[in-house]
Amino acid sequence: MRQALDLQETQEKASAGALSREEAAAVLALPDERLPELLDAAYALRLAHKGRLVDIQILTNAKSGGCGQDCAYCAQGKDSRTGIATYALAGPETFLDNARLGQETGVSRHCIALSGLYFDDAGIAAFCRRVEQIRQEADTPICCSIGFLTRPQAERLKKAGVDRINHNLNTGRNFYPRICSTHSYDERVRNIRMLKDTGFEICSGGIAGLGEEREDLADMFLALQDLSPKSVPVNFFLPVPGTPLAARDLRELTPEYCLKVLCLARFILPGADLRCAAGREVYLKDVHPQLFRVADSIFASGYLTVGGDSLQETIRQIREAGFLYRLAQPAGSGGPKNRKKDTAAGNRA
Ligand code: SF4
Repeated sequence: MRQALDLQETQEKASAGALSREEAAAVLALPDERLPELLDAAYALRLAHKGRLVDIQILTNAKSGGCGQDCAYCAQGKDSRTGIATYALAGPETFLDNARLGQETGVSRHCIALSGLYFDDAGIAAFCRRVEQIRQEADTPICCSIGFLTRPQAERLKKAGVDRINHNLNTGRNFYPRICSTHSYDERVRNIRMLKDTGFEICSGGIAGLGEEREDLADMFLALQDLSPKSVPVNFFLPVPGTPLAARDLRELTPEYCLKVLCLARFILPGADLRCAAGREVYLKDVHPQLFRVADSIFASGYLTVGGDSLQETIRQIREAGFLYRLAQPAGSGGPKNRKKDTAAGNRA
């Protein structure tokens, strides 16, 4: 008879970087009856590293569609026929509206995403001008979700005021060629290393539900452990009609399985900002409040090409689950020059 998984030992090995892919995958295969035990172990780590505070991030889709890559999950790729809005660079008002919203409500980060993998210097310069404009209005830290950059482009972005870059691994190395053929997993890893070297904080995570095996997700989290990102977004795949994976059977994404994925991430990356990203509104159902026992970060106001819970609704969910959201600044209380930066610290458990 196979021995029951020892969660204490698993968690200690994970934190020490000594977990094998099989042991990591075994966490995802735990029977649902052991979920409370798993959640307790993940919660202890969450409390030790993050207290009870939840960070909220908002997203601006700055450049939409028109990408020449074939990532099978993505509504913006070359093989997708989705009818989503396509534009080269959103106008200043789109950036400023979200920047002001973030400033007034005290969100922890404004994430700005650009479709595509390659950018010319003129495109990066135009984007940097938008970033500089919003830095005049808001001091919310800016993360940029962007493709492969040259080092001078990365340095230009840093100078404009971006301090963190999101570039996901998306899945495990072995499974990667099944979801994308136009660039490689190794190119992604190289890009992340270069960005880290340039001085950016790294945000990198992935997507559960693309058809991967449990071992593939284990591989992804273990690879992330090597890259030590500051922030790890975990998405649960939301199929968009017209994309190559639109018809995928997603019955594996039960609420319990989604929580196990988050727990595994917390075990392997205990000190990271762990973000429960796209899909929480769809898959977690009755266990949604439990996500805060594992994740300490969340998106509000929707995702790149699909909607999500509003900011006010997300704040309500956090409070109702017994967790803390940083106090919002009263509207009109000031811009970057007089915003109190320690508002959240006063609220931290
Ligand atoms: S994930 Fe990024 S690189 Fe891949 S198709 Fe979508 S926009 Fe292009």
